[in-house]
Amino acid sequence: MVFQSLVIAPAGLAQSSSEEEEPLTYSELLEDIEDGRVSRIEIDPSQDIARVELSDQEEDAPPEEVQLFIGENLELIERARENNIELEVKPSADSTAVAWLVTNTLIAVLIIGGLLLLLRRSANASGQAMNFGKSRARFQMEAKTGVMFDDVAGIEEAKEELQEVVSFLKQPEKFTAVGARIPNGVLLIGPPGTGKTLLAKAIAGEAGVPFFSISGSEFVEMFVGVGASRVRDLFRKAKESAPCIIFIDEIDAVGRQRGTGIGGGNDEREQTLNQLLTEMDGFENNTGIIVIAATNRPDVLDSALLRPGRFDRQVMVDLPGYNGRLGILEVHARNKKVSPDVSLEAIAQRTPGFSGADLANMLNEAAILTARRRKDSITPLEIDDAIDRVTIGLTLNPLMDSKKKRLIAYHELGHAMLMTLLEHTDPLDKVTIIPRSGGIGGFAKPLLRQDSVDDGLQTRSQILDLITVYLGGRASEDIVFGHDEVTNGASGDIKAVADYARRMVTRYGMSDLGMFAIESSDNQVFLGRDLMNQVPEYSEEMATKIDHQVRAIISQCYDRARSLLRDNRLLMDRLADMLIEQETIEGDKFREIVASFTDLPESQKNLQLQAIGRN
Ligand code: ADP
Ligand code: MG
Ligand code: ZN
Repeated sequence: MVFQSLVIAPAGLAQSSSEEEEPLTYSELLEDIEDGRVSRIEIDPSQDIARVELSDQEEDAPPEEVQLFIGENLELIERARENNIELEVKPSADSTAVAWLVTNTLIAVLIIGGLLLLLRRSANASGQAMNFGKSRARFQMEAKTGVMFDDVAGIEEAKEELQEVVSFLKQPEKFTAVGARIPNGVLLIGPPGTGKTLLAKAIAGEAGVPFFSISGSEFVEMFVGVGASRVRDLFRKAKESAPCIIFIDEIDAVGRQRGTGIGGGNDEREQTLNQLLTEMDGFENNTGIIVIAATNRPDVLDSALLRPGRFDRQVMVDLPGYNGRLGILEVHARNKKVSPDVSLEAIAQRTPGFSGADLANMLNEAAILTARRRKDSITPLEIDDAIDRVTIGLTLNPLMDSKKKRLIAYHELGHAMLMTLLEHTDPLDKVTIIPRSGGIGGFAKPLLRQDSVDDGLQTRSQILDLITVYLGGRASEDIVFGHDEVTNGASGDIKAVADYARRMVTRYGMSDLGMFAIESSDNQVFLGRDLMNQVPEYSEEMATKIDHQVRAIISQCYDRARSLLRDNRLLMDRLADMLIEQETIEGDKFREIVASFTDLPESQKNLQLQAIGRN
């Protein structure tokens, strides 16, 4: 247990609860804390129970028991501390034994379950080998998707283009009467989570036709011929229920350029692809089937797929902009209870780069947090926490190890200070040393502004300042703990720095090498047809020059980071104490402190320092 005995417990504390009265709920407890009615709290983390003594309760009445849910004990500790309530964290001895037993039983069950699963798997695989010709319902069919265009937001152009497809499905006569050829296939192109699947379902929903779906990766199996027969099966079933939609997700898995890939072509995939093309070509002028496919790698697709009569309509489904995000938030807030002080506009502002799926996921997390905290509606607090949770990770228990905590505090402060001191940066949102899942010890997070994301309008000074901020963590460790004590915790920072610096030289023409771009984009294809073009097109001499430039940029920024931090070393020390004690400092508070210090004449700085953090 991390939180052993913060306060010594008075002996003989009653451990049973009052059974006849309504138990105290967590939210009532929080209210009682706020109103100063609580005199003492004892938390039992092994049972997730808080035993509460109220200030007005009778001398020897047993304490009230409150059931805690995940994360609530941390919150409770924080609240109790804020309100100076006597607090103890103490696992009850007997329950630890029970917990031990439970954990071990659980592990045993998991292992056995895992083994069974493996057995089942191999049994399945051999089963498949025996009847590989027949695809047993490897595609899904939904008679009614229940999704409407109203449920899809933020991709208005795509929606408009696809409106037409709905009309084709509903009234094909209208088009065939004037001799128009109805398209066989539509290709939706866009990054994951932007709503391609949703859009395809909405088309089926609007037109009121069945929806067949399969993923490209499911076509590609171990055994030659399976993919092709699956395609045949799928189209046969679809023809029986025409008009309908066939949706092929991840079509790049089958539809890659033929005859490429390391070690020659892949027969199986080629046969599957050929079968797919044959089926689509075999459509009479109007079979009432429209094939919709989705991919985020249109560049690797076989050109035969894109020929007229096949996927000749291509619709881009991009990451949503501000208005799009607002629309998507509105759609997903429709069925949730959101408190009136939550501003969807503000959320849309703060979430550049989020896909529709990210936004939906974030709102859902916020709703889960709200339920867990037993609130009636989602408040801005839950939104904040949910954004951190989807972008950074789940919160874990605070560290106790003070040396490590100090190091993390200085590292994150380095970032936070530079975010605040430098001119061309996004302002600090918060800095925290509460750890998160994924090995994150803490973070300093900027408040993203709509116009500050990589939109092609970033200036040279903005990028330089950004690199400097990234280097701030390492620079701070270096200054405070010395050159030999820097940790590998900054590896993520260093990678980002190297990426940015390199892009400045090779893509943005922002170095002494002048205006030239030799690398066009960084998403390169593995095993695709681009493989051959990946060899750099510049000489070794040029490569050396680039390296020099990149290094010059980085060391310049590092020097700047160090000298700025060194100039503010006293302030850093104060802030580090404060951060270690409070674990999180909000951006506004942080800026206020930094300003109250940096605006002072040298002679008064010492006095001011003593005042900081005393509250
Ligand atoms: P893709 O197929 O592009 O990877 P999905 O359609 O599977 O993305 O999106 C996953 C989920 O994210 C959807 O079920 C929906 O809840 C949400 N979502 C994504 N994009 C949108 C959008 N444009 N409008 C509303 N919800 C969206
Ligand atoms: Mg999808
Ligand atoms: Zn860092």
